[in-house]
Amino acid sequence: MASVQFPFQGFSSLAIHAGHENDPQHSHLTPIYANSTFVFDDAEQGMRRFSGLEPGYIYTRWGNPNMTEAEGKIAAMEAFGVTDSSGAPLQAAAILHASGMAAISTLLLSNLSKGDKVLSHYSLYGGTQDYMNRLLPRLGMEAVIEDLRNPQRAEEALSRDPSIRMVYLETPANPTIQCVDIVVLSEIAHRHGRIVACDNTFATPYLQQPFRLGADFVVHSTTKFLNGHGTIIGGILLGRDVTFMQTQATKTHRLLGGNSNAMESWLLVNGMKTLELRMERHCHNAMEVAEWLHQHPAVAKVNYNGLPDHPDHLVALRQMRHPGAMLSFEMKGGLSAGIEVMNRLKLCTRTVSLGTCDTLLCHPASMTHTSVPREDRLRYGITDGLIRMSVGMENIQDILTDLEQSLATS
Ligand SMILES: *Cc1c(COP(=O)(O)O)cnc(C)c1O
Repeated sequence: MASVQFPFQGFSSLAIHAGHENDPQHSHLTPIYANSTFVFDDAEQGMRRFSGLEPGYIYTRWGNPNMTEAEGKIAAMEAFGVTDSSGAPLQAAAILHASGMAAISTLLLSNLSKGDKVLSHYSLYGGTQDYMNRLLPRLGMEAVIEDLRNPQRAEEALSRDPSIRMVYLETPANPTIQCVDIVVLSEIAHRHGRIVACDNTFATPYLQQPFRLGADFVVHSTTKFLNGHGTIIGGILLGRDVTFMQTQATKTHRLLGGNSNAMESWLLVNGMKTLELRMERHCHNAMEVAEWLHQHPAVAKVNYNGLPDHPDHLVALRQMRHPGAMLSFEMKGGLSAGIEVMNRLKLCTRTVSLGTCDTLLCHPASMTHTSVPREDRLRYGITDGLIRMSVGMENIQDILTDLEQSLATS
């Protein structure tokens, strides 16, 4: 758990310095604290630490200096330049987790009780969707799924159903890079006295700050662009209500046990220092790739929120600094064309996940979604020839050359 301060003028300074504490041994970087517990000077100190009278580490499931540094950095980035309702700099609190799914578990289970519902939209991350559809009902909770690209749907659902406690957003989202309007949906939710959470994984705090746009909670899979190098699994939960974060959220997190660890926190901290530089390059390349694909004769459709023909282009322009590095495209030749493209790749990597230095491509119909019935898949916009791409930071010409030879119809 770490709170935010605002000593910096620019995002990159913050990404590099925020959260860092000087090491007593003068190590330049925070050493990797590979220990389970921390020692008390005497029994009285143990008592003071357990009762919260004295700050300090106790047991690594509850936190350690590597986790605190990562938490401080992400909290600083998400709250950078954002003010609270009284005009003071926003004090956001963060809890690092073992995975994005662990952070989402803490978010949902610290806020919702039996009988509560969560309002969300189509195209959520697969794990989140399964969590809402299969796990919540076993705990006496429920997800209400509407197309929230039309905010009127939120207005209607919230007026109709007082048991909806939370509005859960993910924007941009898979696989068609759908975006929902965080400002408008937060205003509606707050007018009805509900809370708003936003999965900011695809955007990162450099491109989009949900707290600035009205959200109460932000979650990330830090596995993706925040780490940026594909070396960890991790997640984080952030909240603007520091008291809630220090009590209910902390308690829930500690009991669920989805804590991060020293090594992965350390890798995350080092990855995040270059977030601004990386996102600038990722986004620049993504725009070039999208425009190139858009004019390619074998491509039926490109889903990229930076293209003016994307249905959510204007929402993305309003709430994001750049449109992001994720896109998808549909091959005219359907399933076999999708598979052929994947098999011809030479530079780009055939894999799931996203947000690494290299360009990643996956073909949902033959990979992640093979177990989903075709009709369901099509309803989510996952057509047979759809290919999803996390555009990397290679030289743009090299990416386009690889796509050119992979898309060439034989
Ligand atoms: C990957 C991902 C998650 C889940 O995160 P894990 O770190 O894999 O647990 C949640 N939301 C989005 C948008 C993701 O891309």
